[in-house]
Amino acid sequence: MEHVSRRTVLGSAAALGALTALGSLEAEWNAADAATLHGHLPRHVDVVVVGGGISGLVAARKVLAKGHSVLVLEARHRVGGRILNHRLTEGGTIESGGAFVGPTQDHIKALAAELGVKTFKEYTTGKSVYMSKQLGKMTYDGTVPPDPTILLDAALLQSRIDQMAAELDVAAPWAHPQARLWDSMTLGDWLRQNTLNKDVIDVLQCWTEPGFGADVDELSFLFVLWYVACSGNESNKGTFERNSDTADGAQDSRFVGGSQLVPLRMAQLLGNRVALNAAVTRIDQRRGAVKVVSARGTVRAKRVIVACPPPLVREIEFLPAMPARRRRLIAHMTMGKLMKCDAVYRTPFWRAEGMNGFGIAFTGAARAVFDNSPADGSVGVLLAFVGGQTWRTYGNQLHADRKAAVLKGFADMFGDEALHPIDYVEHDWTREKWTRGAPVAIMKPGTLTSYGPSIRTPHGRIHWAGTETSTYWTGYMDGAVRSGERAAAEVNQHL
Ligand SMILES: Cc1cc2nc3c(=O)[nH]c(=O)nc-3n(C[C@H](O)[C@H](O)[C@H](O)COP(=O)(O)OP(=O)(O)OC[C@H]3O[C@@H](n4cnc5c(N)ncnc54)[C@H](O)[C@@H]3O)c2cc1C
Repeated sequence: MEHVSRRTVLGSAAALGALTALGSLEAEWNAADAATLHGHLPRHVDVVVVGGGISGLVAARKVLAKGHSVLVLEARHRVGGRILNHRLTEGGTIESGGAFVGPTQDHIKALAAELGVKTFKEYTTGKSVYMSKQLGKMTYDGTVPPDPTILLDAALLQSRIDQMAAELDVAAPWAHPQARLWDSMTLGDWLRQNTLNKDVIDVLQCWTEPGFGADVDELSFLFVLWYVACSGNESNKGTFERNSDTADGAQDSRFVGGSQLVPLRMAQLLGNRVALNAAVTRIDQRRGAVKVVSARGTVRAKRVIVACPPPLVREIEFLPAMPARRRRLIAHMTMGKLMKCDAVYRTPFWRAEGMNGFGIAFTGAARAVFDNSPADGSVGVLLAFVGGQTWRTYGNQLHADRKAAVLKGFADMFGDEALHPIDYVEHDWTREKWTRGAPVAIMKPGTLTSYGPSIRTPHGRIHWAGTETSTYWTGYMDGAVRSGERAAAEVNQHL
């Protein structure tokens, strides 16, 4: 039964139908008009989805495709959650949130293709930069920094990580015979037990800061192994290399026009079934239908899919309360600390000098740097991920000081031209009320083995989506799509 009135939730369907050009689509959804924000909600639908990120929107589409009525309640005045385009004043679009896709991320790629959003390869032609404390600056071809002091150790540790990850069941990492041991230590503990080389740990920190928004000493070793195991699909086991690499890895490609086109186009297709500015505060399933209380009114549903990051799930009141194990699970899942800092240049000048714009550094504000130029290379953009301890050092500095530190990091890698951008853009996800950090909720030791088994177990008629609940590419856009598909399949089975 379709109860949603086409005019009340989002305003006129005709206005939506007219939104064909990308620019107007983005503008309309990002700066939602009065009708979008204040229209009446339907009183009943079959399924309410809480959260209009990729996972929630995918879930809604899958439920709708089976002929059930659905309503997405999104707290923000825009869709996309951790996916957010930024239009450069100089022209072109970059992403403030999730951006890269790569091999085995088949679900997000298929979805984007279906929605007409194309990918382009991340620029990898030329040399990368490696800046270690011991050796200073080195440039290199390929993916492995040619640091003779770490090469052997790093290769050995990587292959051990891959072997251990390969033994995990991605749907139940806590079931491995060594799970308790691995979950009793951090990645940092394990590294120190297996290498005396401090530089190897520094290199790993250049992976955990952008990848988790966290330090090697914040992450359960089992959680990291699971993350690596998840960096694959049903026919290709996850590997550290696939997770960390640019070409042929998770950072292989980006979306033409920016990744937010994916949620924007899903929202356009869902039309009046997406309600913005509708933060959900309570879900009550004590009597008959599930009552979902939001900032824009109460909606009753047969089933609910919650597709928010764990810290935001924690803030919803559940009646009856969630089982203790799941409550503890999400209480222990904290968001990483991460911001993206982008400097814009008239041209990607480093390319002309034979550099690909990728670099890692052991110190400074720019420890993990990527070429983030738009697909057409109309302007050059260097991106620094400022995460974990680097975020703790620079995240609370004055904007001008942090900008100077980031630009210095770029200049150390690619020359003094980097000190003179025509624009500088940053986005700190720890300051986002409806996300609280990025890119993913991390797990400290003890979390997966003590509470992990409750991660996908429905609570009565409430089902869980969100990238953190995925079994492949958890933490990534692909995981978000997969989790939305899985939650919708659960719900469709019941309806
Ligand atoms: C800086 C950054 C870099 C990243 N890089 C990459 C990358 O390169 N590649 C990649 O694949 N992934 C990347 N990611 C991760 C990727 O963006 C996420 O995995 C994915 O977008 C998560 O989607 P989701 O739908 O699960 O959650 P979200 O996108 O967080 O969506 C949840 C939604 O729920 C809403 N919400 C919260 N509380 C409530 C409430 N009470 N009521 C109603 N709505 C609520 C939020 O507003 C939000 O819209 C990155 C993320 C960030 C932030």
